[in-house]
Amino acid sequence: MSALPASERRWDTMNNSRTFYNEVLTEHNIRPEHKHPLENADFSLEGVNPSCGDDIVLNLKVEDGVITDGSFEGDGCAISQASADMMLDLVIGRKKEDALRLSDIFLRMIQGRASDDEMEDLEEAGALKDIAHMPARVKCAVLGWHTMAEIFKNPEKARKK
Ligand code: ZN
Repeated sequence: MSALPASERRWDTMNNSRTFYNEVLTEHNIRPEHKHPLENADFSLEGVNPSCGDDIVLNLKVEDGVITDGSFEGDGCAISQASADMMLDLVIGRKKEDALRLSDIFLRMIQGRASDDEMEDLEEAGALKDIAHMPARVKCAVLGWHTMAEIFKNPEKARKK
């Protein structure tokens, strides 16, 4: 077996990351684990991206500074829905500070400014890194993360009880 020339290896890597991106997007749209109402949520906040029509409500349950449960509701494009679902996958069970750190990495990744080590911490959500090259979809990708960060930066606005 001869190795592929460098140019084709690059192409192969691009195809793999593109395939992974599509699989992740499809999976989280067909079976969004966290898309449902959340009874007894401590915080709920609407996040809207008018340029695409994405309109979600993010719900979080927080105990002693730890996100113990979360969900989202509402509608939007495939990217906004998958990204919100992946965000919840990642932050449920984590401390508020850790969730904010990850949201900061995600926002920088989408601007093309996160390191490989940082992106590893995003786990599956790292599959959305190529959105940095799709300016029209940036607001879709960051909607859930931005809404989560907004809840912690402005908790009185989002508090339900
Ligand atoms: Zn969208």
